[in-house]
Amino acid sequence: MFVSDCLGINAKGHLTIDEKDTLELAGEYGTPLYVMSETQIRENCRKFRRSFEEHYGGNGMALYASKAFCCKAVCRIAQEEGMGLDVVSAGELYTAESIGFPAERIYFHGNNKTPEELVEALRYGVGTIVVDNITELEVLDQIAASMGKTAGIMFRVKPGVDAHTHDFIRTGQIDSKFGVALETGEAMEAVCRAAELSHVRLTGLHCHIGSQIFDIDPFEEAARVMLRFLAEVRERTGLTLSKLNLGGGFGIKYVPENDPAGLETYMGRVSAVVHGECGRLGLPIPFILIEPGRSVVGDAGITLYRVGAVKTIPGVRTYLSVDGGMTDNPRYALYQARYEALVAARAGEAKTMEVTLAGRCCESGDLIGENMLLQPAAPGDVVAVLSTGAYNYSMASNYNRVPRPPVVLVKGAESRVAVRRETLEDMISHDEL
Ligand SMILES: *Cc1c(COP(=O)(O)O)cnc(C)c1O
Repeated sequence: MFVSDCLGINAKGHLTIDEKDTLELAGEYGTPLYVMSETQIRENCRKFRRSFEEHYGGNGMALYASKAFCCKAVCRIAQEEGMGLDVVSAGELYTAESIGFPAERIYFHGNNKTPEELVEALRYGVGTIVVDNITELEVLDQIAASMGKTAGIMFRVKPGVDAHTHDFIRTGQIDSKFGVALETGEAMEAVCRAAELSHVRLTGLHCHIGSQIFDIDPFEEAARVMLRFLAEVRERTGLTLSKLNLGGGFGIKYVPENDPAGLETYMGRVSAVVHGECGRLGLPIPFILIEPGRSVVGDAGITLYRVGAVKTIPGVRTYLSVDGGMTDNPRYALYQARYEALVAARAGEAKTMEVTLAGRCCESGDLIGENMLLQPAAPGDVVAVLSTGAYNYSMASNYNRVPRPPVVLVKGAESRVAVRRETLEDMISHDEL
């Protein structure tokens, strides 16, 4: 009935997440509040695990793209569920290291890693650095040499595939800041250069075509292009690369109309392409990696707000202002992302009120959504915005010196704080006079 399996309605008619009443959570921890179902996160991880067993005989691994939501507790869950981890910065790496995440299962991404970050990655023994460009390759080889190490690497390749998604989250086309291009020969040049260097060891190739993708076609196309390139690499250099990372980007349901293809369809169709192409090209089946971020944590999270003013402009719209906004969820302001919202106390009732859910920041664009249907709401009501587990906390800011809300993890009937609420003292804690 809801966009996520962890949500329900109890006998009082209140919205629940796992077995917790969201009104009680709002009372206990205050608002605004991010709540995440640990059960749902674990179940999402397990779906990927099971799917690799079924479609690749276990010869593959899902990496959790931690940028979707990076904190110690979630890194720990990913570790316990046997996932690998994608990090894109020293901060994400530091988080992983703080819980002892196994270094060999970490993949370090980014289109402009700093030399300091490369040093950190090598020091921790990160298993694979996904090299974005030839400049980085040269720098990495020198740093590894100076540290007496050899870096395991992959190249990020632009497969030239257009994923039908928002411009800001498309990354597979030639005009992208990420990776080396196939069409121009740049990717082959990078591979050949890596083969000449003695402190990097090229183990495979990577691509990631975008985010919130509903269609399987572009994923199939990217897999086909990448496998053909693996065959070309073998022909040109004699190297048989053993790993292929097909990236993340699997779409999730934010509103009921969203119709993502689903993991089973994705895995079935893409593994058929992998097996078919490898057979045709005479390639051994590579170890397959995928990198889900949004689809691991997105539908596990909700945000609870309390309604302040309700402002009806006759013939125009009704603004419902809440005690959070773009500081905890900038995705509408960034790319008009759509969400479902409901009044937590009357979650099962008909949605008869059309509102613009407005944040509290000094920006007219600070909205959670426009033309949203809600149960009738009044000041003091708790409103839940659904599917906020990905790219909400991780994109949150302190604009207007608004403290970030806490993240509470719910598991069955238990709840605990995974990230504590920032305080006003935190707001000035880095200031100097
Ligand atoms: C962002 C990103 C992902 C995860 O994307 P989702 O849409 O959250 O699944 C995976 N790989 C790379 C390289 C990324 O940049």
